[in-house]
Amino acid sequence: MTRHAATSTDIAETAALPQLSSFRRIVVKVGSALLVDSARGALRHAWLAALAEDVANLHREGRQVLVVSSGAIALGRNILKLPRRPLKLEENQASAAVGQIALARAWSEALAHEGVTAGQILITLGDTEERRRYLNARSTIAKLLALKVVPVINENDTVATSEIRYGDNDRLAARVAGMTSADLLILLSDIDGLYTAPPNDNPDAEFLPLVPRITAEIEAMAGSAGSELSRGGMKTKIEAGKIATTAGAHMVIASGKLKNPLRAIETGGRCTWFLAPANPVASRKRWIAGALEPRGVLHLDAGAVAALRRGSSLLPAGVKRVEGIFERGDAVILRGPDGAEIGRGLVAYDHDHAERIKGRSSDEIVTITGFEGRTEMVHRDDLVLGGGRG
Ligand code: GLU
Repeated sequence: MTRHAATSTDIAETAALPQLSSFRRIVVKVGSALLVDSARGALRHAWLAALAEDVANLHREGRQVLVVSSGAIALGRNILKLPRRPLKLEENQASAAVGQIALARAWSEALAHEGVTAGQILITLGDTEERRRYLNARSTIAKLLALKVVPVINENDTVATSEIRYGDNDRLAARVAGMTSADLLILLSDIDGLYTAPPNDNPDAEFLPLVPRITAEIEAMAGSAGSELSRGGMKTKIEAGKIATTAGAHMVIASGKLKNPLRAIETGGRCTWFLAPANPVASRKRWIAGALEPRGVLHLDAGAVAALRRGSSLLPAGVKRVEGIFERGDAVILRGPDGAEIGRGLVAYDHDHAERIKGRSSDEIVTITGFEGRTEMVHRDDLVLGGGRG
């Protein structure tokens, strides 16, 4: 085992942790391979019924549960009898349109059978990445939870294009966990957790029950992008882990292959726990740190880096170079003189103005831009240091 693997002390310290009953709000992500039979392309109703039973049990105990369910495209392509080759964008969108309605119905019926009401939410990347839309989506979900509804969430694949989409529900689910201040994210898939190397190609790979912190070494264990399907592979699960744990939610990767997979976690079934730090950053900062697609990069001088580390805002004077096309309020990456990411923040100027005021003192801003803008390029309240999601 590596030094990052769980030791008996780690497990002793967190002995009380792997109990679903200690969580208040749980996001459960269900992969397509579990819901849809790959040979027949049909929905696995009996398995879904058992999962709905698990969800309803948690719900009855007073826990709030949100489901992020994949499977729309897999179901839809079968209903439409599309060929077994990679689909084109429009074929994927059409499959999602047909599959999503079937998927929503299946969830709604399975949960209704357990006396639980389901509500469908289809999300696009903009709904989580633009602050205003994010707040809107968040309040809808909060209302559903207050009404004791189980939200069933998927990406809106009928309008998502390849450029503007999550593409994988692992990261979407992690973002939903952050957005709703969930304290646990459970990723159910066809693998039972993290191994020291991809287990199919490495018979010696060891299973890791606990990951106290996602380090570069842990990331390397997921294998390179080429060794797995990029959608839904271990890589996106580790990415999801970074988003979720930064946002203050623990994450579990568990197999959903057996029936009643949530009950299995509760009764000590095999899974990997990824722990969130004890003192997560405040909600707004979490949102900034988890930004999936920063629109630009600000390269800072050493003085500015030191000032930020002392808790100051970023002033235009400390910016040496501006990269990217961004609007006021967009997330940008901040890099030091050596190119290393030192943090992320919401920028107070668009790229054009940022370019014009970089390196200048704040009292020159009004003469350069013609308006009284903010003194700071990135205000300290809009800034998260520490390498973004890492
Ligand atoms: N949103 C996709 C679907 O429902 C699945 C994405 C994924 O496999 O993670 O078909």
